[in-house]
Amino acid sequence: MNPEGIAKKLAEMIHTGEIAPWKAEQAALKEGIAVPEHFAAAAEARRLYIEKKSGCRFHHIVLPEKPYQIAYQCPNDGTGWTLAADDTYMHCGLCGTELKVAGEEERYTPLVNNYIGGVEDYYSYAGQVTVGGEVDRTFQNILCWGPGVGHLGISVGCFQLNKYGPIEIKVSGWAVAARNLAFVFDTEAERENAKTLIEKKLPEIIPKITGAQLAKWDGEIFDVDFLYKQRHGDRILHCCFLARFKNHRGHGQTSHSAAMAKNMIDDLFKQHNVNCRISVVGMGRDGDLKPSPRNRRGRYVSAQQRIPIKEYEKKTGRPVDDLLAYIELDRQGVLEEIGWPAYTGMGGEIIPAFYRTMKNNPRPHLVSSYQKLYVETRGGDLIFGVELPNVEVGITSSPEGIISPMAREALRFAGIQSAKEFAAAVAAITLAGEYNFSTLHITERMYTGR
Ligand SMILES: [Zn+2]
Repeated sequence: MNPEGIAKKLAEMIHTGEIAPWKAEQAALKEGIAVPEHFAAAAEARRLYIEKKSGCRFHHIVLPEKPYQIAYQCPNDGTGWTLAADDTYMHCGLCGTELKVAGEEERYTPLVNNYIGGVEDYYSYAGQVTVGGEVDRTFQNILCWGPGVGHLGISVGCFQLNKYGPIEIKVSGWAVAARNLAFVFDTEAERENAKTLIEKKLPEIIPKITGAQLAKWDGEIFDVDFLYKQRHGDRILHCCFLARFKNHRGHGQTSHSAAMAKNMIDDLFKQHNVNCRISVVGMGRDGDLKPSPRNRRGRYVSAQQRIPIKEYEKKTGRPVDDLLAYIELDRQGVLEEIGWPAYTGMGGEIIPAFYRTMKNNPRPHLVSSYQKLYVETRGGDLIFGVELPNVEVGITSSPEGIISPMAREALRFAGIQSAKEFAAAVAAITLAGEYNFSTLHITERMYTGR
């Protein structure tokens, strides 16, 4: 059979459950394909399988000719270099000496586990996950990652959690964008007067900025809040414009609308002879690119699963109290030693991987990577849940930048059609990853080789 025929055969075997997706390399060798061509056949088989499952065709997430990596060593300084097989610079990155290829046994490894394609971002398959509650859907998990077992961990976690039914999702219907204005006065009386003037003018300001900047994107201002602060003689007035959107991120539009409001407020101050010393866009308070449990941006989403305690104890061979103790010791490590405001689990790894995969707006995922893991017992059940309080995402096109063809393809393969579904999918895989990690830790199988 030719390699193409073998890839088709392997895809069918994955489809029927005869082999797991991550066993395709071994199966290709059994079919008589030689090392290292078996990596290409296995990746192709997984692509065919996902195409069949999703009903989509790969165009932009391409498969390189040589989808594997090769180990080298620098004969001069002894450093090891594992490089993509498509790399053409065969020299040490430290001293420039020509590299020597490693022995046959250790020479070839897969680019990443369950690789399916991508030239700069290595896309891999990480199983599927079914969610219910406020989003009902099954998502195919295709994820970009660095090397490691991440994809398999997510696959396993999703499979294990879905044994107890769909993962329950609660997700906000809209996402918040915020832009803060700040004004500085010399006296408290001037500040008080200014605030009263702005409040009276808001019923005129809001429709104007909405019509000019937000309506086209289905956005609306739902709140304008004030805060008094002081630094020695500076009497500060913060005035934050909070907008909300369904599928649009709205960061740029909200900024422009607040700036338009600033111009109107500056005119108002002039008309009323208000002595405002400084009038600026004060970005600190609106949470721009600041990870925080109380960030004013993005969308709340949580994912939760109920597992009978008896089943969890049987599966891990440990009393459930040991899991609670593990979660607490890890939470203390983060909260009391690292000084982070709450337990974040591995969200900093899983959530950026999802953003890198989907390549939607925003590209910087710092605000969205904040995560809180919670584990508790209720009645006979173990509740395993995760909260992502500020998921920022715009899945419609935006003046802030296009959504690339590769990004749109990744969304189609995943089965994501709205910003709400994006949030549900990222919360579900975060929960699955956490569940798998914590189960490995509590059974002492993480990093131990047991
Ligand atoms: Zn060197």
